[in-house]
Amino acid sequence: MEKERVIIIGSGPAGLTAAIYTARAQLNPLVIAGTQIGGQIAITSEVENYPGFWSPERTPTGPELVEIMQKQAEHFGARLEYDEVVAVDFTKGSPFYIKTYGKEYMADAVIVTAGASPRRLGVPGEEEFIGRGVSYCGTCDGFFFRGKDVIVVGGGDSALEEGLFLTKFADSVQVVHRRDEFRAGPALQKRAAANEKMSFVWNTVVEEIEGNGSVQAVKARNVKTGDVQTLAVDGVFIFIGHYPNSKFLEGQLAMDEHGYVITDELMRTSVPGVYAAGEIQDAIYRQIGTSVGQGVAAGMQTERWLSERE
Ligand code: NAP
Repeated sequence: MEKERVIIIGSGPAGLTAAIYTARAQLNPLVIAGTQIGGQIAITSEVENYPGFWSPERTPTGPELVEIMQKQAEHFGARLEYDEVVAVDFTKGSPFYIKTYGKEYMADAVIVTAGASPRRLGVPGEEEFIGRGVSYCGTCDGFFFRGKDVIVVGGGDSALEEGLFLTKFADSVQVVHRRDEFRAGPALQKRAAANEKMSFVWNTVVEEIEGNGSVQAVKARNVKTGDVQTLAVDGVFIFIGHYPNSKFLEGQLAMDEHGYVITDELMRTSVPGVYAAGEIQDAIYRQIGTSVGQGVAAGMQTERWLSERE
């Protein structure tokens, strides 16, 4: 079994930032990166609101930011392992046991930054047509909908931002939202309203996704009138929020009723020596900037905790 000083579970902005800080503190951290380095920003098209990289000529993309963060972490000595954690045992205290698909580890301290995943609608046809018209990522799949008609489900920033991105490819993008006003910020609402390819279906929920090999239509019900209409579409992009990737931590760390890991202002979890940062513990802000800040705090606290013990 391999013994590490610090293991960071996850490689999104929180994890890579914690890696930079613990690497610069000479702790030689190991990042277990998961299936996709960068987490959700790896599949984000344009990042307009993370300070320091934007210019009027050019908005950075998510993958560009991930590449810089990864290089920075590796430059200072962090190591990345492309594997996924399947189980942990934190019950006996430090050193902590971590099992991935490929290996087993012990670590003196752990920083959990496993992030969050898109929520599913839970309607008939959704699972069946994933990858065949149903998608949770415009940036990843928009290209396949060139000249097609799609709907976006949701009314938050993600729905409008991804919907706007999809207008680069699709002929039409209808935003289906369950209420009559958006949760999204005013700037995105203004851009969406001004885009000729976008239209809005208010007070409406998708009840079923239909097709034959790939998506052909959705059944949508107006929640005010009860009327059900069939919308002929080639793609259904779902942006209705996220859930934390904390299943493997059940029974190990204190969580709230939605599965978010509970931390204090020092990013401490319920187990001394285990810290958490980013969207696995933050259901409120969920920004690159806040995840980076929490990663800084978790990295610094881990270093302090280890040096106080020694
Ligand atoms: P969100 O803000 O939680 O919005 C989710 C949307 O989905 C809401 O409009 C919600 O409707 C709707 N919804 C939830 N469950 C549903 C269901 N079962 N059926 C139909 N609709 C459902 O999630 P998000 O848009 O992913 O944004 C998450 C966070 O990331 C926010 O803090 C956001 O500001 C941030 N973000 C920021 C940017 C940016 O600044 N450029 C971009 C993306 C995300 P209701 O409105 O009725 O609740």
